[in-house]
Amino acid sequence: MPALRRKVGIMGGTFDPIHIGHLILGESAYEQFQLDTVLFMPSGNPPHKRNREGASNSQRIEMVRLAIEGNNHFQLSLEEMHEEGYTYTKETLTRLAAEHPDTDYFFIMGADSLFEFDTWRCPDEIARLCTLIVAVRDGLSSSELDPRIDELKVRYQADIRKLTSPNLDISSHMIRRWISEGASIRYYVPDPVRTYIMENGVYRCSTIS
Ligand code: ATP
Ligand code: MG
Repeated sequence: MPALRRKVGIMGGTFDPIHIGHLILGESAYEQFQLDTVLFMPSGNPPHKRNREGASNSQRIEMVRLAIEGNNHFQLSLEEMHEEGYTYTKETLTRLAAEHPDTDYFFIMGADSLFEFDTWRCPDEIARLCTLIVAVRDGLSSSELDPRIDELKVRYQADIRKLTSPNLDISSHMIRRWISEGASIRYYVPDPVRTYIMENGVYRCSTIS
């Protein structure tokens, strides 16, 4: 009988800050694809956000840790935090695949990331190393996503699966803007994350609703 392979999801992101959109995406993927675990992997220095201004790396890590606390199948991964220079998904997946040959990886993303996929370093290699799980986002309907999925399947021989998930109009930049305007972010991020932001003046806020 072949050995049972582990199924591990990867939620990569800047998480600046982590919000309920990320968490629901990770949980939906866990459930619909019977994953063993989902790694929340904050990117150290993502090339597509070169001039990022926001929380520090240690603050982003702490917010992820607080957000996933209590969920036994969510795990924080600092895989991309130790790297000098920019972090690339292809290199991370290559390393993980070599270290864990008994594991199948599922890279979880929103539709916006799938539309940028051609600009990632070595998309063909990424497609060889993992299955992509994609969710609708930004008002894009599920059927509008299909042609893009078909295109990438052919171009990179990619295994791309669509997630059934609600289209949640929520993003980190929206949350950062609300904080700067003094508006409430209650329920958009888990409460421990909101408290952390408030107590540490993350995003330079001194008061927060
Ligand atoms: P920013 O506004 O700063 O770009 P973000 O909300 O897009 O932040 P990221 O950390 O950039 O968050 O996203 C990490 C991953 O999570 C991406 O693949 C993105 O598509 C996905 N994602 C984020 N928010 C949602 C959402 N509301 N619905 C579905 N996918 C999401
Ligand atoms: Mg984004």
